[in-house]
Amino acid sequence: MSDKQEFTFQTEIKQLLNILSHSLYQNREIAIRELISNASDSLNKLRHIQLSESQYRDDVPLQITLEPDKEAKVLVIRDTGIGLTHDELVQNLGTIAHSGSKEFLRSIESTGGDAKPDLSLIGQFGVGFYSAFMLAEKVEVVTRSYREEKGWRWESDGTGRFTISEVEGEVPRGAQIRLHLKDDMEEFTEPTRLKFIIRKYSTFVPHAIKLADEVLNEQKPIWVEPKSQVTEDQYAGFYQWLTHHSEEKPLWHLHLSSDSPIQFHSILYCPPSNFELMGFGQIQHGVNLCAKRVLVQDDSQDLLPDYLRFLYGVVDSADLPLNVSRETLQDHKLLPKLKKVLTKKVLDFLADLSQEQPETFKTFAEQFGSILRTGIGSDYENRERIAKLMRFHSTFSASESTVLADGLKGKAPSVSLDDYLKRAPEGQSQIYYLSGPNLDAMEKHPHLEIFRKRNLEVLFLDDAIDEYALIQLRSYEGKDVMSIDGADVKLPESTTPADEAESRETHKNLTRVIELFRGALDDKVAEVKESSRLTDSPCCLINPRSHMSSRLQQVLGQTMREFEQTKRVMEINPHAGLITRLCELSANSDNDNFIRDCGRQLYANAQILDGLIPDVEDTTSRSLRFMEELARSKSAIVV
Ligand code: ADP
Repeated sequence: MSDKQEFTFQTEIKQLLNILSHSLYQNREIAIRELISNASDSLNKLRHIQLSESQYRDDVPLQITLEPDKEAKVLVIRDTGIGLTHDELVQNLGTIAHSGSKEFLRSIESTGGDAKPDLSLIGQFGVGFYSAFMLAEKVEVVTRSYREEKGWRWESDGTGRFTISEVEGEVPRGAQIRLHLKDDMEEFTEPTRLKFIIRKYSTFVPHAIKLADEVLNEQKPIWVEPKSQVTEDQYAGFYQWLTHHSEEKPLWHLHLSSDSPIQFHSILYCPPSNFELMGFGQIQHGVNLCAKRVLVQDDSQDLLPDYLRFLYGVVDSADLPLNVSRETLQDHKLLPKLKKVLTKKVLDFLADLSQEQPETFKTFAEQFGSILRTGIGSDYENRERIAKLMRFHSTFSASESTVLADGLKGKAPSVSLDDYLKRAPEGQSQIYYLSGPNLDAMEKHPHLEIFRKRNLEVLFLDDAIDEYALIQLRSYEGKDVMSIDGADVKLPESTTPADEAESRETHKNLTRVIELFRGALDDKVAEVKESSRLTDSPCCLINPRSHMSSRLQQVLGQTMREFEQTKRVMEINPHAGLITRLCELSANSDNDNFIRDCGRQLYANAQILDGLIPDVEDTTSRSLRFMEELARSKSAIVV
């Protein structure tokens, strides 16, 4: 007997084991699901190797067997897959933490409070093996790799350490996971209990799962069946098997079949919620590629674009050779073709969903809209299809919601570009948007005044990424997308009120006030001039570079050092109360300094409205001065 080598678990895994072995989690059967899933992965890998490398072929059946021993309180889960070498045991089962272990720990912690953590998600984080310690006080892995003669035994009681030793005598290829069950876990040696668990969680495992010569799972590939033959329960069951998420139902599924130009069957699922929004990092692709029902590549990145990475499912094509290797797969000309067809089908399906099941679509847009819109920049061909699926707040959805005290806050964006264009008056050649830090500030923005007056709809973008997407879109249905703070905004002539032509008279001193403002803001703005866009507010800032709002320029300015923001034009409303008063005051040059200060303060206010931060010291000391002056001019005497 050779010596036992001793190893220490990597810290995160130790923490994980501590939680798993002490948890009173009810749903312990998920550990069986995880171990079966690992066995199945290992069998898939071996099948693939055998197809491409003939020296590894033999007639050992590829299967999983459950061997319960009630007396000894042991359950063995055995597979005839690839097995593990000594080094693989060290690395894969204990010393090198998958990034998943940290994330899984975080997800457990974040459940916090009274809510019980959902340990059943463990498989999604790539640390499913360790769930064995929910059932067992000791776990043994006896294994032989398909590449070796020698077998190894890995052993641990789930505290800090594990050992590895060589096994004398012959070890069959594959792995046996021997669970020495805890005292209260004897149910896991009951055949009826085991059958129940396998049928519940592992029906879709593509290899036979046997218990005393009885095959427990159906292994039915539902994706090759006609849609009409598949029940909702089967769809849900397959989703749960794919995602390791036993209770969850998908938000929607799409079952596709095609014979030409490419032959394929596929089922794609959308999960009900977006992990990324919860802060768990980027979702990884989850679609499996099969050739004639045999798994060729799991979690393939080549079947769907990144902006659809949240979909799970399977794509099975008879046009793909079975023995294609992972390396040549990447160059296989079929994959880009499949990707193109699938992408278009998904986007068209979503457009239909928005019409036929608006509530489901709304949930989808809330959860995945942020990922989807990134496709506008990366998928030129489909950018209008993606834009069609975007939803916005707008000045029109705001007025509908004024019944609510909160205005738009908390409401899901609901306006599509198609809705927008349907409502646009004749002659409107642009799609107007306002970009800002939050809806409250945007709803009150001076830029909107002229649009409100003429009953023109403006989209609200409270996320810079939305604007970025729209800028890359450039135009939709032939209409340019335009930020309303830009100099190139064109208003449809049909909306010009008849009285606008005969311009109201402005104060004769307006040029004097503009001059004083210019002097005060010389280094900050490109120009100060009279405005025709404003009805109530005294001023606004116009951006000469029309293709990008000032706000986006500011966001880019923060991230890219070489990005230069354009100076803006300050437009003055000659009919605003404050401006006419300043015109009167400008008759006396003693007021010049005060008027300059007003110009500076108006500029700072306009910056704040745009979500920018004005010169803090300057602005606060000036407003303090204004208050002091005003306070001095008030009287304490009660008349
Ligand atoms: P995941 O399977 O998601 O990678 P696990 O913690 O379940 O995470 O397993 C860790 C690794 O251990 C696997 O990636 C695999 O390399 C190896 N492994 C686990 N079970 C088996 C098995 N039955 N046969 C071969 N290798 C296995």
